[in-house]
Amino acid sequence: MRKALFPLVNHNMAKPNDKCSFCGRSKNEVGLMITGEGVNICNSCVEAAGDILKENRISKSTTNFQLKQEELPKPKEIKSYLDQYVIGQDEAKKYLSVAVYNHYKRLLQSSLNDDVEIEKSNIILVGSTGTGKTLLARTIAKQLHVPFTIVDATVLTEAGYVGEDIESILTRLLQVADYNVQEAERGIVFIDEIDKIARKGDNPSITRDVSGEGVQQGLLKLLEGSIVNVPPQGGRKHPDQKMIPVNTQNILFICGGAFDGIERKIAHRLNTRVVGYGASKNNSQVQLDNLLQYIAPQDLKSFGLIPEIIGRLPILTYLNPLDRDALRKILTEPKNSIIKQYTKLFVMDGVTLVFKEDVLEYIVDKAMEFKLGARGLRSMVESIIMDEMYEVPSKSINELTITLDLAQTKIEKVNLSRFKTE
Ligand code: ADP
Repeated sequence: MRKALFPLVNHNMAKPNDKCSFCGRSKNEVGLMITGEGVNICNSCVEAAGDILKENRISKSTTNFQLKQEELPKPKEIKSYLDQYVIGQDEAKKYLSVAVYNHYKRLLQSSLNDDVEIEKSNIILVGSTGTGKTLLARTIAKQLHVPFTIVDATVLTEAGYVGEDIESILTRLLQVADYNVQEAERGIVFIDEIDKIARKGDNPSITRDVSGEGVQQGLLKLLEGSIVNVPPQGGRKHPDQKMIPVNTQNILFICGGAFDGIERKIAHRLNTRVVGYGASKNNSQVQLDNLLQYIAPQDLKSFGLIPEIIGRLPILTYLNPLDRDALRKILTEPKNSIIKQYTKLFVMDGVTLVFKEDVLEYIVDKAMEFKLGARGLRSMVESIIMDEMYEVPSKSINELTITLDLAQTKIEKVNLSRFKTE
């Protein structure tokens, strides 16, 4: 049989000389005395206990946010989710999946009472522009249902200079979390173009480096986990603005950058090793067409990131350049592929849109020829069907097939170099 929740609680039963078992005051000194089996509690102590419970709930939800380890997607599940949206980039996907899994396990660690503290593992993704860095970060955030924001490191400057304060990175996160600080404190921030705040030149400069080392120093504070006062409206801080304190301890930072020219630093390092000890055969296996796969923290240092920043971005991985096969898949395979998106637009007008296979091959050929990358694919498809998107809604047709002839005619009129993103 189910027991009553408070079988012996009865405030009427308290006698005048009964004392509160918590504060010691007698029934006459308090408003109400509740008695239990051998214990009494006064109304003030009940209220105080209620406050303690409430505080405890809040602090628990900050660190645990109702996340249970059983519900946390496993690295393999994270990766297969990424596979549905991002083509290739297996290495980066694997690193990201593990890092993200560990990050959210870290948030659960407070429930384990031992002395081992799992440290934060922010991530840095290196790869040419348009190879899927942002897409990877965005897709992971979608899977985890956590607030996500993208900031561009190029707009950041040291406090007092024209540009945005470092703290404004967190303003965006607060905004997407609807100013719910606890939500924001478990979010993911993608910092794009991290390479643009690299120190120019290898030697620390004595003059101020507005967008370089100073910004890196500022960023450190955020990456390592501290309480940061965030201007709720972003931009520059000003004295009358009320700041919102945000703890970055559990915010996962994923940084991305193209690091143009870093291959030279990698090649240089690999070559140096050949000259030094342990030389020889490894070098003959080095794939010169994709040196990024050998990237190591010291290459980031040679590029101009300060060692402290590199230390705060312990997970370093790379993205491959997109080859012909990858571009072809990007057109149709991801859940949210470009062709699927345009097909959906036409379906809304009751029209079935069909791209002939040779049209898709043609688009990819042109993208390769003009080095347009994945972003160029969308622009090309858009150019091919622009007139149709204009005309079709006013026509009474229910199918539209895009033929090679049509595609060629449209693309020949376009200056494809205009679509270059690099
Ligand atoms: P990056 O951040 O590396 O510069 P993005 O992730 O913004 O590149 O990619 C730009 C666009 O190109 C994406 O929105 C997506 O449509 C497409 N894209 C790039 N790489 C991939 C990929 N590996 N798989 C699927 N789509 C991709």
